[in-house]
Amino acid sequence: MDLTLTPAQANLRDRARAYVTDHLQPLEAEFERRHTLDPSTIADLKRLAIEARLHGGSLPREVGGQGWTSLEQILVHEQLGQATGGLWSFIPGAYNALVHASPEQRGRYLDPCLRGERNGSYAITEPGQGSDARTLAATAVRDPATGEYVLNGEKWFVTGPSDTDFMIFHCHLLDGEQRLPPLFLVDYDAPGLVMSHDPDYTHTFADRHPQFVLTDVRVAAEAILGGIGQADAMTNEWFVEERLHIGARCSGAMERLLALAVEWATGRIQFGERIYDFQGVSFPLADSAADASAARLLTREAAALMDAGASPKVVHAKASLAKLFASEAAYRCADRVVQVFGGRGYMREFPAERYLRELRVDRLWEGTSEIQRMVIARALEKRGVRAVVG
Ligand SMILES: Cc1cc2nc3c(=O)[nH]c(=O)nc-3n(C[C@H](O)[C@H](O)[C@H](O)COP(=O)(O)OP(=O)(O)OC[C@H]3O[C@@H](n4cnc5c(N)ncnc54)[C@H](O)[C@@H]3O)c2cc1C
Repeated sequence: MDLTLTPAQANLRDRARAYVTDHLQPLEAEFERRHTLDPSTIADLKRLAIEARLHGGSLPREVGGQGWTSLEQILVHEQLGQATGGLWSFIPGAYNALVHASPEQRGRYLDPCLRGERNGSYAITEPGQGSDARTLAATAVRDPATGEYVLNGEKWFVTGPSDTDFMIFHCHLLDGEQRLPPLFLVDYDAPGLVMSHDPDYTHTFADRHPQFVLTDVRVAAEAILGGIGQADAMTNEWFVEERLHIGARCSGAMERLLALAVEWATGRIQFGERIYDFQGVSFPLADSAADASAARLLTREAAALMDAGASPKVVHAKASLAKLFASEAAYRCADRVVQVFGGRGYMREFPAERYLRELRVDRLWEGTSEIQRMVIARALEKRGVRAVVG
């Protein structure tokens, strides 16, 4: 497989890098301290991202996105991972499920998202249903008198920036004995929809992850996204894409951690010598370089296979493999780099400390490491070892 970048791909990577180093990294320390940024700063970040053509990257051009290939998305996310605070969330964009939006839904949800005027969340997880998302308790029932759908359920970890104003609601439509999975687009100001709790988490991220309760929320049939029975397939598409993005951001985080650690360790003198000349310091960094390179290659390979039209089942396994390895490796790498920085590694104003807290979630969300191992183990048996490893 030839993973050489074309000039256009290298240009895209460089545009993303410039956005991260010029606009996101300078805001990291302030964001960590205040847990927020001024509205005018956020508006600037959105405008600058649009000017740099970094918005809506994973959506096709026909619906107003950039039409990037999977590999191109990975090249960008490798750069986004070099900012702490999850600040990339301020770049206008939308979940890939919105590619199935009707013209009316595009005008109401997708187009404003791409202009940076609206934000959506994707609500799957519930208090009782996490890793096993097949058994969601949230329901929709059609009211024959009005043709509306009545939604009930409780959703946790509903991720989005604080101005998020609609969710993609994954539930089961009850129709006699049948339970069919649809996605609904639901505005946060719909009567009966209540944000019940907005907890703080280990990381300080641009996104919040609140909990919602929906009690007899009524929506029109036009709120169904992509057709009844399609939700599982659309959510799986989202998982595969996001697992690759996570792998790429983790490999980017490792690149930055290593750059910071090498710069520090080659300048820091103890016992009359550069600490880099102590193998106790440089060898963990060499191990981290091996981790970072392997994570990058796994992620790019999975994306390139997707672009080449490989079997979706194999791509699914490869995306799990990339996410599993990259997220576990990035956490190891952050821990080693904190150690190399000594006491400074424990200070929130230094990126290594923030990465150690922030990278932890990559082993949990979009399927925990154990769930990725389940996907890989099943693929080893069903698709064959060569398809997964080769
Ligand atoms: C910050 C954050 C943001 C999130 N954002 C979103 C979001 O936007 N939308 C959304 O829908 N969800 C979101 N999630 C939810 C996330 O996807 C779930 O937390 C995750 O899938 C795990 O589910 P759970 O927390 O219910 O854990 P559980 O499923 O209860 O798992 C608990 C433990 O058991 C293990 N386990 C479970 N089943 C198995 C098995 N078969 N074999 C081995 N081990 C197993 C798990 O690996 C885990 O270690 C977010 C979570 C966090 C922390």
